[in-house]
Amino acid sequence: MADEKFDVIIVGAGPAGASAAITCARTGLSTVLLERGEYPGAKNVQGGILYTKMLTEIIPDFWKEPKPPVERHITEQKVMLLSNQSAIHLGFKSADWRKEPHNCYSIIRVSFDRWYAKKAEEAGAELYTGVLVSDLIKKNGKICGVKTSEGDELFANVVIACDGVNSLLAQKAGLIDEWRPDEVALAVKETLALPKEKIEERFSLEANEGATFEMFGKVTEGMLGYAFLYTNKESLSLGVGCKVSHFQKTGIPPYELLDHLKAHPILKPLIKDAQSLEYSGHLIPEGGYYSMPPLYTDGFLIAGDAAQMVNPSHREGSNLAMTAGKLAAETVIESKKTGDTSSKFLSLYQKKLRETFIIPDLYDHKDLEEKIEERPELLTDIPDLVCNAAYEYFNVDGRAKRDVQSAILKKIFRNKAVRKIIKSELNLKNLLGLFKGAVKSALNYKNLS
Ligand SMILES: Cc1cc2nc3c(=O)[nH]c(=O)nc-3n(C[C@H](O)[C@H](O)[C@H](O)COP(=O)(O)OP(=O)(O)OC[C@H]3O[C@@H](n4cnc5c(N)ncnc54)[C@H](O)[C@@H]3O)c2cc1C
Repeated sequence: MADEKFDVIIVGAGPAGASAAITCARTGLSTVLLERGEYPGAKNVQGGILYTKMLTEIIPDFWKEPKPPVERHITEQKVMLLSNQSAIHLGFKSADWRKEPHNCYSIIRVSFDRWYAKKAEEAGAELYTGVLVSDLIKKNGKICGVKTSEGDELFANVVIACDGVNSLLAQKAGLIDEWRPDEVALAVKETLALPKEKIEERFSLEANEGATFEMFGKVTEGMLGYAFLYTNKESLSLGVGCKVSHFQKTGIPPYELLDHLKAHPILKPLIKDAQSLEYSGHLIPEGGYYSMPPLYTDGFLIAGDAAQMVNPSHREGSNLAMTAGKLAAETVIESKKTGDTSSKFLSLYQKKLRETFIIPDLYDHKDLEEKIEERPELLTDIPDLVCNAAYEYFNVDGRAKRDVQSAILKKIFRNKAVRKIIKSELNLKNLLGLFKGAVKSALNYKNLS
């Protein structure tokens, strides 16, 4: 592999990198895919729900393969608000999600990433694993290759950085610094073995059907984040993640949060007798739209987590990574035709991203986390208040319903947190702030176009 020249070097064989490699190699570009793990997926962590649409745009009909790299197709999605003893569920189940192509699947990254990288090899890409890329090579200010920790140098017309949340390459290209603690979340996940029949019985699922639970409220101890529980074929993925800045502020260790989650009286019966198979932790880029770095420079593009392409409010990251990897590859394919790998030409990538769901979604969710952080009561007092109100509503204690309802309403409107939120929402300063924010966002959006 010493001192070779390729059309494109792709660093990182996660969803972004493999998508880019498949797309480039299929059109005959000489493509190399470098992965530091012993094998693709060796170090990768995901909850993990994968949306079908973006994968079928690269591997049509993948689910028809004899052994597709997926666990269960998801037919039910639930959001839960938890207090110490109770939970309010909001769920959606659809028979339409039983039809192929299914909306989404649970996956296990170790097997998924191996399968996906193999597709890149089948398309003609050269995959090298156990290769840590340690630097970029520049000539006349233009990026033209990479150096590995073993001292090898590889050259290419374009390098695509798909090296995940702590993108060394984006740093070396001068496009990002290290992320601030409020731009990343830390998630811990445990995979728990449970027999197939028990999973289907406990979660009311038909064979191969899966369910997802996203849990808010007490489970994050007032920090911004959420917990998740997803069903695999013969295991459960249970995890919780919060902003790193919140972990720093509270001093709560992430493993303690996961232990509390496992002991929660509503969760406990669902995971009873499940055996721990694996424990992992990983950062998630959650800075959103405002944290996105410049996505291109001369001879260089960034895709996926490396570019903060995650929409946490919809637990989407891997699908953004796939689409971005594919679009980065399509940009390289067009640059090959013109022979132009300048920053100006590669800006086409950003234009392509704007025409998909990626930039619009990140843009539309850009202020969500900040808004929640401005109202910490939403993470502390409100879940308790809502769960207590529901308890009182459903608990029959001999009072007339009208008395119960009026007591609940009084408690809600006399609650300090609720009054604070109402007061903070209904004032001129806040309304002006919202207006200014909208103008600022519109200008930023224009700048990215
Ligand atoms: C706990 C958790 C739960 C999540 N749940 C979901 C979910 O349910 N659904 C969803 O869509 N997304 C989810 N995500 C987000 C999702 O995992 C990411 O958005 C997605 O993996 C991004 O893909 P990527 O290819 O950009 O990066 P990655 O998957 O991180 O891949 C980067 C690759 O680059 C390699 N690499 C890094 N540096 C180098 C280097 N210097 N040299 C060589 N190789 C290198 C890494 O080993 C890795 O294989 C979750 C994330 C976490 C942590």
